[in-house]
Amino acid sequence: MNEPVITPPSEQAPRKDFVRELVAADAASARFGRTIATRFPPEPNGFLHIGHAKSICLNFGIANEYGGRCNLRFDDTNPFTEDIKYVNAIKEDVRWLGFAWAEERYASDYFEKLYEFAELLVTKGSAYVDSESEEAIRTGRGTVTSAGKDSPFRNRSAEENLDLLRRMRAGEFADGVHVLRAKIDMTHPNMIMRDPLLIRIRKASHYRRGDAWCIYPLYDYAHGLSDAMEGITHSLCTLEFKDNNDIYRWLVREAGFDIPPEQTEFARLELDYTIVSKRKLLRLVNEGHVGGWDDPRMPTIAGLRRRGVTPEAIRAFASTIGVARKEARTELATFEHEVRNDLNMRVPRVLCVVKPLKVVLTNYPEGEVEELDASFYPHDVPLTGSRKVPFSRELWIERDDFMEAPPKKFFRLAPGREVRLRYGYFITCQEVIKDAAGEIVELRCTYDPATRGGDSPDGRKVQGTIHWVSAARGLDCELRMYDRLFAVPDPEAGGDDVDFTKALNPTSLITVSGAKIEPGVVTDAAGTRYQFERTGYFMSDPVDSRPDRLVFNRTVTLRDSWVKVIAKG
Ligand code: ATP
Ligand code: MG
Repeated sequence: MNEPVITPPSEQAPRKDFVRELVAADAASARFGRTIATRFPPEPNGFLHIGHAKSICLNFGIANEYGGRCNLRFDDTNPFTEDIKYVNAIKEDVRWLGFAWAEERYASDYFEKLYEFAELLVTKGSAYVDSESEEAIRTGRGTVTSAGKDSPFRNRSAEENLDLLRRMRAGEFADGVHVLRAKIDMTHPNMIMRDPLLIRIRKASHYRRGDAWCIYPLYDYAHGLSDAMEGITHSLCTLEFKDNNDIYRWLVREAGFDIPPEQTEFARLELDYTIVSKRKLLRLVNEGHVGGWDDPRMPTIAGLRRRGVTPEAIRAFASTIGVARKEARTELATFEHEVRNDLNMRVPRVLCVVKPLKVVLTNYPEGEVEELDASFYPHDVPLTGSRKVPFSRELWIERDDFMEAPPKKFFRLAPGREVRLRYGYFITCQEVIKDAAGEIVELRCTYDPATRGGDSPDGRKVQGTIHWVSAARGLDCELRMYDRLFAVPDPEAGGDDVDFTKALNPTSLITVSGAKIEPGVVTDAAGTRYQFERTGYFMSDPVDSRPDRLVFNRTVTLRDSWVKVIAKG
């Protein structure tokens, strides 16, 4: 089955938000005198998650809408945490989400340039080498309510600073002996402006630069100048960087950029029952709480992809939640709604029985198998396609679709009752067979040959339609029933003092073996998505599923079953 290409309505007309309004105004006034340029700047210290997808959709989306460009820049200035495997995963994920970057850039390629700016700042008297201890620097900074005080090294001469800076670079000093600081104002109301650190000594190998450098720029120093060097016009980041805006402007001006980029902050995505922090997700991976970065329970792009979520659904979600200035948590139901909406319009329907119960049609010829016509799509989906489904004397139905003593509202199979088999016949339950322990092991039913295709010529109505799989032809499969990774809406509510892994949902994965599926799926490539009728949306696992061992991941249930759970209390 090849999935159709469908553009979600949300992408046909992107919503206007405050960032897009700013960009529209700047584009109209040609404020920057250059094309609109954005960037997505991940640090390669983990896999991208759904929060990053919001930023990706915003940055690439704006560039596309304004005929501009968006760079993919690896903000790789920390030699301790970064790795090429993360670079590769990030590139794959951005591409998979459907975006193409103008240029692939690395902050680590700017180390030389950033060093030159440092010499410039020192020469101008805008930066100095501080030789205080880390502790002294911290206390010297003061607090939000009290001013900081100048470092005793603050008034070193430009010559002395330049000499020390060069020797820092040459590797003459151990980690922490000296740092380069901006010389701004130790009484500044914005704490970040109290002579922030720009460059520090780290005798460590960098995954790209090896041992070429032993001094590394800090985030604030590298970030704004990287933006400026790339000719970025709009530097979009999340709200926690609001206070960094002052240093951003200060640095790009000091470094001599005339029309510097404009930093604008928007609210980060926080999704219920989920954690969006590479650092914490790394812990889940390292401690084995999940099977890896691409575990389908992970909120990573790789995990969502392996779970069966489409890039279109993620983009539609980003569009639905929009971009705002105020932080707010997003309900998981909002995400799942987009996933269902998207899958509903694109995936074929097939029959799969999760918990099989044997049905024997006593009046059906032994050994015979007939092929029934079945449609892949319901009428309200604008796609067509059909298949044959084998039908035989012995079938599997869902154990939950039979009740020996059914309550009032149960319309499925029960002793003496007639139901419709999807695409098949009406059957009536005549006898219930139990084992010695009293467990129901088989139902003996009769079928009405006149109801082939699912309608009775005499106009007889049945109240229930159930799914089934031929026991003669059906295939065994494993189902991985994924559920939310955390049991509580905000797993980080307790702050860093509370171990967030305690909030993991112990039943986030239930593996069902011995499910039965119609045989046609065996020729589909691993990674094919389906709706298992009445059961949920599934995708064959791209890694583990093989024709002789079918494995399906549940992407999402058909309905939001948690609504009920919560309502019941
Ligand atoms: P993490 O804590 O997960 O590592 P980060 O912000 O440190 O997040 P980066 O790799 O530095 O991760 O982020 C790259 C870009 O993605 C940044 O511009 C950042 O603001 C943005 N981003 C990260 N998390 C979110 C989120 N939850 N919602 C929206 N944007 C995000
Ligand atoms: Mg970061």
